[in-house]
Amino acid sequence: MNYNFIKLIKEAFNNNDGWEKTWKNPTLKKHYDILIIGGGGHGLATAYYLASEFKQKNIAVLEKGDIGLGNVGRNTTIIRSNYMLNENEAFYEFSLKLWEGLEQQINYNAMVSQRGVLNLFHSDAQRDSFIRRGNSMLINGADAELYNVNKIKTIYPYLDYNNARFPIKGGLFQKRGGTVRHDAVAWGYAHAADKLGVDIIQNCEVNGFKVTSGNCVGVETNKGFIKAKKVGCAVAGSTSILMSKVNMTLPIESHVLQAYVSESLKPIIPGVITFGAGHFYISQSDKGGLVFGGDIDGYNSYAQRGGMDNLEDVCESGLALMPIIGKARLLRMWGGIMDMSMDGSPIIDKTHINGLFINAGWCYGGFKAIPASGWCFAHLLSKGYSHPLSENFSLDRFKNGYMIDEKGQGAQPNLH
Ligand SMILES: Cc1cc2nc3c(=O)[nH]c(=O)nc-3n(C[C@H](O)[C@H](O)[C@H](O)COP(=O)(O)OP(=O)(O)OC[C@H]3O[C@@H](n4cnc5c(N)ncnc54)[C@H](O)[C@@H]3O)c2cc1C
Repeated sequence: MNYNFIKLIKEAFNNNDGWEKTWKNPTLKKHYDILIIGGGGHGLATAYYLASEFKQKNIAVLEKGDIGLGNVGRNTTIIRSNYMLNENEAFYEFSLKLWEGLEQQINYNAMVSQRGVLNLFHSDAQRDSFIRRGNSMLINGADAELYNVNKIKTIYPYLDYNNARFPIKGGLFQKRGGTVRHDAVAWGYAHAADKLGVDIIQNCEVNGFKVTSGNCVGVETNKGFIKAKKVGCAVAGSTSILMSKVNMTLPIESHVLQAYVSESLKPIIPGVITFGAGHFYISQSDKGGLVFGGDIDGYNSYAQRGGMDNLEDVCESGLALMPIIGKARLLRMWGGIMDMSMDGSPIIDKTHINGLFINAGWCYGGFKAIPASGWCFAHLLSKGYSHPLSENFSLDRFKNGYMIDEKGQGAQPNLH
């Protein structure tokens, strides 16, 4: 089914009876050429690009629950490409370019909204490091602008500029950054992959792998054994659990990250804004809710829920930046399980088992990475070698010491 204006008009006069399911509910086959485990953003995008760009056939996505209920539908929806290190910047800029054409390509309204991302700085030293990052972005073909405080005052007159502890000195702005409706990304990729013949199998949990003579030949699931020539794992926060089934110990820790949404308010925040003196980011949804977040919970957990301690911490940062939001009432909060790698950068690689591939370590930033990650993982799965943009995201960098330590904070996952 194609979504278009004529179809919309037709259905308006047809009691909306003619809409087909966004994706089918196919019968599980006993054998696939390529199996993707995890029906989140990364798994679904991988399946879509495998079929569309790399012309692969006989593909299935196995999702243990319903698609869209993992991190892909739980994040704070921010997309951007404002990284410092070349390995990351080139990759995330590729992703941003894919976001820009995504809705036309997958024929789905994902509400891609390039409303701009502004990172505030609060000291001279921080300004210098932001300028350096901005230059790195420009070199990699991204857009970046330095805003002085007077310019910011015209856009956000209500920020606490006179805060003696954290005076706002300016900001690094990326106009092409913004937000995307998170769950529509899962639905959109599922819709497009389904149209190309990918089987999306929900409520199918993978419990183990069958490995024969060093080759992965299939997976054990709650629906029985499924044979496959290649298996790609994209299960985000569950990565260490899944890969432990083949005795892999990964440089990944799982932590909960929470998101918060206020009651609906009149439009007040035009873009995404981040506080540079604490971990706090905020935007306003089209429905009017203030959508914000901060740090991950400090302890390891696989529970998809958070606690009140982090709420207090996030609200402290929010009020230091924007006292005006103190009167807004909180409507909803939820948590997602983050796959925090040791250097803050992802892993898209083969494993020591032939035919078994891994996509993980997305930390705070895996939503914006979805298109590029799907593309590069599909490249690896179909061709057997890495796409140039993801060849540095290898597993052995943690052994060799060639870390992609974007924040320069070393092997401390809770800081990434
Ligand atoms: C609160 C919050 C805010 C965030 N904000 C942002 C942001 O603003 N910008 C940004 O870029 N990123 C953000 N992120 C990060 C981003 O959401 C994640 O990095 C990204 O979504 C992870 O990839 P995914 O979509 O594939 O994960 P998921 O949607 O979690 O997909 C993994 C899937 O694997 C399935 N699965 C697990 N185990 C199995 C199994 N054994 N068998 C079958 N299926 C299995 C799960 O059910 C799940 O559906 C945020 C995350 C959270 C939680």
